[in-house]
Amino acid sequence: MRYNLGNKIAVVGSGPSGLSCAYYLAIDGYKVTVLEKEEKLGGMLTLGIPSFRLEKEVLNAEIDVLREMGVSFKTGVEVGKDITLNQLREEGYEAFYLAIGAQGGRRLGIEGEEGQGVISGVDFLRNVNLGRKSELSGNVVVIGGGNVAIDVARTAKRQGGR
Ligand SMILES: Cc1cc2nc3c(=O)[nH]c(=O)nc-3n(C[C@H](O)[C@H](O)[C@H](O)COP(=O)(O)OP(=O)(O)OC[C@H]3O[C@@H](n4cnc5c(N)ncnc54)[C@H](O)[C@@H]3O)c2cc1C
Repeated sequence: MRYNLGNKIAVVGSGPSGLSCAYYLAIDGYKVTVLEKEEKLGGMLTLGIPSFRLEKEVLNAEIDVLREMGVSFKTGVEVGKDITLNQLREEGYEAFYLAIGAQGGRRLGIEGEEGQGVISGVDFLRNVNLGRKSELSGNVVVIGGGNVAIDVARTAKRQGGR
């Protein structure tokens, strides 16, 4: 089924939400461009979930399928900062799918959390996944006990922490 969305569509964010949207729009024949603020595509699949749980080759192969279907990708473009929705409209985009996820770690609101060596789990994983300096030494304490905390703990060990 083809909805009356217009021909040129911008998907903002390349996480699973944006990629799924681009896939189904491409199947229906729309001209889709995915705009991503980071240099790497995939959202949390790339910058959150560690490679030892989700291999980047697997994800990249999925993204290549979208390319073969005609989806275009632009990385390093933050919508709202580098370009506005109105500018995109002037470029001919007629519909927008905003799939910007939730990148920020939450604060605990306790004394000392602004101190040196304290970092949110998602920031730490993003640094590791982007190859930024993230080696550790000595004892590391992970606060929290959910799935992300386990990813952080396993990654911290691999980065040299104890
Ligand atoms: C450590 C970790 C482990 C996880 N493990 C699992 C798991 O095992 N199984 C599971 O099902 N889920 C898991 N999740 C959750 C899953 O990753 C998220 O639910 C999913 O990625 C959300 O998808 P999304 O597309 O909504 O957002 P995201 O994946 O966050 O993607 C949003 C994208 O939008 C981009 N963006 C934001 N603002 C802009 C802007 N202004 N302009 C352009 N681009 C922008 C961001 O850079 C990002 O690439 C995990 C999450 C984390 C953090």
